[in-house]
Amino acid sequence: MLASLMLASSQNIIAQNNMKLSEKHQALVAIAANEARGNIVELKVALNEGLDNGLTVSEAKEALSQLYAYTGFPRSLNALGALQQVVKERAEAGKPTQTGREADPLPAGYDALEQGTRVQTQLTGQPFNYQFAPQTDYYLKAHLFGDIFAHNNLSFADREIVTVSAISALEGCEPQLVAHVGGARNMGVTDDQLHEIPIVLRQRVGEAEANRCAAALARVFSEPAPTAVQTVDFSVWPKGEPNTAYAQYFIGNSYLAPLDAEHGGPVNVTFEPGCRNNWHIHHKQVQVLVCVAGRGWYQEWGKPAIELRPGVVVAIPAEAKHWHGAARDSWMQHLTYHTHIEDGASNEWLEPVTDEVYNKL
Ligand code: MN
Repeated sequence: MLASLMLASSQNIIAQNNMKLSEKHQALVAIAANEARGNIVELKVALNEGLDNGLTVSEAKEALSQLYAYTGFPRSLNALGALQQVVKERAEAGKPTQTGREADPLPAGYDALEQGTRVQTQLTGQPFNYQFAPQTDYYLKAHLFGDIFAHNNLSFADREIVTVSAISALEGCEPQLVAHVGGARNMGVTDDQLHEIPIVLRQRVGEAEANRCAAALARVFSEPAPTAVQTVDFSVWPKGEPNTAYAQYFIGNSYLAPLDAEHGGPVNVTFEPGCRNNWHIHHKQVQVLVCVAGRGWYQEWGKPAIELRPGVVVAIPAEAKHWHGAARDSWMQHLTYHTHIEDGASNEWLEPVTDEVYNKL
């Protein structure tokens, strides 16, 4: 989260200080996206943040129930189970939790198909009839926009914030995401609030989710396409812990994951986009880099930079002044180990790699 904050453009930083999405809504964004990802650990964090900031159990329950229509019962049921657990843990810890009000009973003569058709028309801005698949048309109208939306313990605007956030966390659903960004506007979510959803996703959920949402917003608002940040999958090569020991010799945030340290295995180093180490020299030892994910750079003093992509191996000669790091728009991971180590081997840290040098790459 901190890494992402550091990356935010100045425009984003202004937005963070002046957020139009309340704490409760920011939590709903993280709750919905983590429900869709199936990340129960992060979901519980987001649920606690929400419940600490005015979200009621009734609202959270309603949001997670609605999401079964977008992410399926397996994700929705797991998430409801996590909510149940969070509520129990909070009670045991003596933390106050607002139950909230239940939805009002449905009005006499309630007709799901009629009500749902009206809500769907409001959301899409025009009547929508899916004649190719009449069953699905019925489910959308009578069930999703009828029965589910008829529960008035969550507003239509809140429901669309939840839906946009969840679909942002699903790969390959861009047309639905674009449609729901439009739907959110029609249901009363403001343009400022919508533009904050990718900021919250970047801070609290992940780059891929934020990129998807930002791209959909750009399409709906006819804005220039944002630069997508290339992510890496930390379930393949671990991110490890913040590299605090060497942070003074780095620009940006890096992370260290020693692999089988007991037997002297290599260390996996993760660089956030834009992160690089200072110029430095490994005396009396050869450093080997094996890029395993993302994209970055290795440069030896006075020589052109070499692009690091998965599979690129660089053996850095002893006494060579150099630096290594991520590209501006990509995370990067490389394994590293030292070989040909002689007595008195050491590292010498020098000046930072200036923006002037780095931005030319
Ligand atoms: Mn080095």
